[in-house]
Amino acid sequence: MRYIFENENSNSEQPNSTNNSNYSKWMNLILRRSEEIGQVELPICSVILDERGRCIGRGINRRNINKDPLGHAEIMALRQASLIKNDWRFNECIIITNLEPCTMCASALIQARMGKVVFGAYDKKRGGLGGSIDLSKHKSSHHKMEIIGGILEDECSRLLQIWFKNLRTKI
Ligand SMILES: [Zn+2]
Repeated sequence: MRYIFENENSNSEQPNSTNNSNYSKWMNLILRRSEEIGQVELPICSVILDERGRCIGRGINRRNINKDPLGHAEIMALRQASLIKNDWRFNECIIITNLEPCTMCASALIQARMGKVVFGAYDKKRGGLGGSIDLSKHKSSHHKMEIIGGILEDECSRLLQIWFKNLRTKI
């Protein structure tokens, strides 16, 4: 099995422990990568960690690049991780992303039986895990995920606010 990118400090850490400082390390990495992709896309990046804290999938928002309405970072990360894992079930895994998953991605994560979802900024307009609607608690959800929002929330919100501000000045 090949791992996508290792967090320098994550090898021995258990992602299933409630270790928010480990999530913050990943979130910093995600924020750096998101800043880079902000040149061409909405700056969203996601990583999926396995039960030993190793990154088995990562995705960036590729909606414009791929001309794909499903090209959200979480979906990209799920596709890569499914290939590496050779499985569609993610009960023991964690996905970390800088913005709360939208309703499409929240549903995909429920379908994938993701163990835990960690995100930075809440999305009050389109968030599917509490910001607007919480699909994980909806009666249609057959899978209960642990959800931790607000990791480096200020930094994550600021990155998106700056990106939208720049977009407005370009138009
Ligand atoms: Zn999405």
